[in-house]
Amino acid sequence: MAAASSAFIFNLYKFNIFNSFPWTFIFGAAGCLGWIAGLGYFFSSLHFHKKPTVALLLAMIVIAAAMLGLIYYIEYSILVSTDGRCVANSVGFGQYLDTSLTKGDSRIGCSIDDAGKANSFGYWVALLHFTGIVAGKWIIYEALQDQAFCLACNFYLHRLSNKRKIFAKLEEAAPYHDNLFATAVDSPEFAEKIRKVAVAPAKQGAFRIETVLLGCAGCKSQMIVEQAEAYDGNEWKSTTKFGRCVSVPSGIDLRSVFRA
Ligand SMILES: [Zn+2]
Repeated sequence: MAAASSAFIFNLYKFNIFNSFPWTFIFGAAGCLGWIAGLGYFFSSLHFHKKPTVALLLAMIVIAAAMLGLIYYIEYSILVSTDGRCVANSVGFGQYLDTSLTKGDSRIGCSIDDAGKANSFGYWVALLHFTGIVAGKWIIYEALQDQAFCLACNFYLHRLSNKRKIFAKLEEAAPYHDNLFATAVDSPEFAEKIRKVAVAPAKQGAFRIETVLLGCAGCKSQMIVEQAEAYDGNEWKSTTKFGRCVSVPSGIDLRSVFRA
């Protein structure tokens, strides 16, 4: 789909989105394409409970190469020369690709007939495209690896509920973090701590702690995951401080505690 989109834009505006940006944007544009293409993996893996494996990563890289080849092939198949002839009827794909890559900039303007100085610049651009697409897919792969997983059932845990608290400073966030699990998770004290409202204003030094309840669709086991962000005066930035995963003892359902 990403390959088709690139070729479609190419056809509409008569230029190639990859070759029309400075270097710094080439990598970013390719990375976005890879990321968008990887979203399919992400949601299908979650849906079918497929853990990210090295084989999956390798498949992503092979498909990234195929995707890049497809982008060039679609461009080749729709390219029309300056005298109105369809390029695919007179030039082989291999020749087109070599001309395209070694005289990269000269074909902007949609003409393969333009004379350009042959160089390896286009191959480096293609390599940058490829690494950008792989980087985009790598982000998806890492995101899949970060998903909590039930090893007993081979299921990804799904989000059941969450609570968010904002503390004005570290000295207020730390006691909440340190004491939350001091009592059993099925005790009234734990429910009170989870339900306690903390909404300090977003000022420098503030901490925002999100407590998420995850559950397994198979064995119904639950897990509590906490992540924190610190406000630096301009924006919230994630921090490893206060991050943790705590398994809920089997047989305990905390959904009503979190939703109250
Ligand atoms: Zn399970």
